[in-house]
Amino acid sequence: MNSATRQELFACLKTVNPNPTTELEYQSSFELLIAVLLSAQATDKSVNLATRKLFAVADTPRKMLMLGEERLLDFIKSIGLFKTKAKNILATCRILEQQYNGEVPRTREQLEQLPGVGRKTANVVLNTAFGEPTIAVDTHIFRVANRTGLARGKSVLEVELKLLKVVPKAYRHDAHHWLILHGRYVCKARKPECNRCVIYHLCEYKDKTA
Ligand code: SF4
Repeated sequence: MNSATRQELFACLKTVNPNPTTELEYQSSFELLIAVLLSAQATDKSVNLATRKLFAVADTPRKMLMLGEERLLDFIKSIGLFKTKAKNILATCRILEQQYNGEVPRTREQLEQLPGVGRKTANVVLNTAFGEPTIAVDTHIFRVANRTGLARGKSVLEVELKLLKVVPKAYRHDAHHWLILHGRYVCKARKPECNRCVIYHLCEYKDKTA
């Protein structure tokens, strides 16, 4: 895919969704961090159902620690891997309290040292809470980037690094959300809905439907 086509691809995605954002509900960088930690292998919808009640009583690291493991488990037990996630959340809150005065740190290195926080979670927090032009490649972005020809790669890291190189600067901050939402609702894994795809004419996927 050449640069003029990439430019047009993002212009099309922007036309249908000028201000894309995460579907996770949050009011602060701390709430976003916790929501992203909970969202691994879970839907945003299921996370929102749990965090609406959880954040009403624990919207800071200190309050989360005061809540304790048993009560935290109760709030998140409908979410996959909830036991591991509860341990990671509390260990993360301890570090935030002890080392960062209860704030979420703003660098990748610091974020990735928090329990349960990998490159993808750090990228989401850096992008969505702190406005950095990072691109967190998940299963949806990986699929869309490969199918369209925007940034082909065998691993999520390869795709991420390619996207950072080829996404036009003007679109880099929101690229993450445009590509996720496109993969989640249009370019679906099993049956892409090519007949209603706004980038159909630009996409290089050889098995386009319709
Ligand atoms: S044309 Fe089809 S395969 Fe290509 S991006 Fe659109 S939905 Fe996905």
